[in-house]
Amino acid sequence: MKRRDFIINSALAIGGTALLAGCGKKEVKKAEKQVVRRKFHNLEIPLIALGCMRLPMRDGKIDMVELDKMVEYAMAHGANYFDTAYMYVEGKSENAIGEILKQYPRESFFLADKCPAYLVESPADVRRLFEEQLKKCQVAYFDNYMVHNINKNTINNYRDNDMYGEILKLKEEGKVKHLGFSFHGDPKMLREVIKEHKWDFCQLQINYLDWEVINAKELYEIADEAKVPVIVMEPLRGGGLCNLPEKAAAKLKEACPQDTQASFGLRWVSSKDRVFTILSGMSNLQQLKENIDTFTDFREFTESEQKTAAEVAKIIQSQGAINCTACKYCMEVCPRGINIPAIFGLYNVYKSNGNGFMFGVNYNALKEEERADKCINCRLCSKNCPQGLDIPDLLKKVDATVKEVGDKK
Ligand code: SF4
Ligand code: SF4
Repeated sequence: MKRRDFIINSALAIGGTALLAGCGKKEVKKAEKQVVRRKFHNLEIPLIALGCMRLPMRDGKIDMVELDKMVEYAMAHGANYFDTAYMYVEGKSENAIGEILKQYPRESFFLADKCPAYLVESPADVRRLFEEQLKKCQVAYFDNYMVHNINKNTINNYRDNDMYGEILKLKEEGKVKHLGFSFHGDPKMLREVIKEHKWDFCQLQINYLDWEVINAKELYEIADEAKVPVIVMEPLRGGGLCNLPEKAAAKLKEACPQDTQASFGLRWVSSKDRVFTILSGMSNLQQLKENIDTFTDFREFTESEQKTAAEVAKIIQSQGAINCTACKYCMEVCPRGINIPAIFGLYNVYKSNGNGFMFGVNYNALKEEERADKCINCRLCSKNCPQGLDIPDLLKKVDATVKEVGDKK
């Protein structure tokens, strides 16, 4: 192991304390090619940003060596916006990105974090959680700070505890530069939330599949009309849009041979002018490099490509896949430890390729206690699902399908 790799791993192993501290700050060596940027208030923000929900993993832990390389590469190419949250990677994302970013001068990167609305039971909770997050990230302020995940289950926490007012106080103290919210509710709720306060930005789930088949178009248009700048999350729908069903992949390849599935999906999002950055959860250096290439050698999305996106979305929809983005929020509350995203992921692959044998084989590779038939129908998971999925019902459907294909052991 190289000395630098050793230092990074050791620093995390001892709780992220002293080993990196005192070494001086790392100079950002600028690469020749820089990612395109967009205006956000008085700033220029990279159009592609590193979402820290799906960080690189090794042996069940965050791979700090890989993450260090990814951040270095991103910084060199001007992709210096990082987005984390309290519960990402089972609560370890903030520590990890903070440990890596502390090597760099604070003014050389943008860091976004979010207040978990579902944990806020009093106004005082906002400041308590915020101070904890500053410590975990080892910073004195956040560039962007959000009410996290406003939806039908959290709207009362957000309103009753005046989360906006509490974060506004932090902004007035200089600890938050811009105040926003991330959102997983319906258009009516978005209209209300946007009108309630003066927001610096909002964070919405927008991609070409949700645009055609759910309500992303309506959500975007509400923010656009209100002139609220937009950050996009799940531009590739949790990786689903870079693992397309065969028919959809063939259609895309034929129409846009110069694109990968990921570059097509990301470029599609960039065609929305109100969007100032796109968060993509990248799990290794290779994915990061590919995404950065898309934004250093940037090509505007064309009208004919818009038609292709709509056609590809229709093909995906016709496959009957489950709209899970693999965010794992459901797993945080499941008392039985059912591996919900893995189960839905396997089902979606089956719906895409029709290979019942492999579906059965892969399903049986899951631990018995994590399978769909161990669900006790308590419904806690559905309350936490940003996609509004009826998870217990869908688990029953998957279980029935596994039995149907005849390979359940
Ligand atoms: S309904 Fe089933 S999957 Fe959902 S939380 Fe309860 S046991 Fe877990
Ligand atoms: S079922 Fe819902 S909460 Fe669970 S991983 Fe999928 S999208 Fe996330």
